[in-house]
Amino acid sequence: DKPTKEAFLHQCVYCNRRAANAVVHLHSTHAVALSILPEINRADALPPLTAYYVMRVGRLPIVDYFPPGDVRLAAAVQRKISHAHAVLLANHGPVVSGKSLLDAQYAAEELEETAKLYLLVRGLKVSSLTQAQVDELSRG
Ligand SMILES: [Zn+2]
Repeated sequence: DKPTKEAFLHQCVYCNRRAANAVVHLHSTHAVALSILPEINRADALPPLTAYYVMRVGRLPIVDYFPPGDVRLAAAVQRKISHAHAVLLANHGPVVSGKSLLDAQYAAEELEETAKLYLLVRGLKVSSLTQAQVDELSRG
């Protein structure tokens, strides 16, 4: 099939992340729901709720909204993706890179499930992993 008008999203990730061999972009419900919350941390949209989220996704910066297919979105993604292997497009969905297609798919699934978990416990007192626990996972 012909590439979608969002193919440039994938290209700009490959240009800015040398280790990326695959890119997954979705409009998955829970990640999109997260992306429309005004109170989320735009530098890192999800807290470190689980070890698998930290290991597979890590930091999740928000990319400002642009209409699908708008080339300004490429520049906005490039700025954020060089410092994280996944980004969340505001009012749109996640873009996740990986060393392989399976790696990117697992990370995208982990992101979606963690967004769902975050929405489930939103408003409740939550114990996220501590910075020391996150650092330990990053070393492993
Ligand atoms: Zn899209």
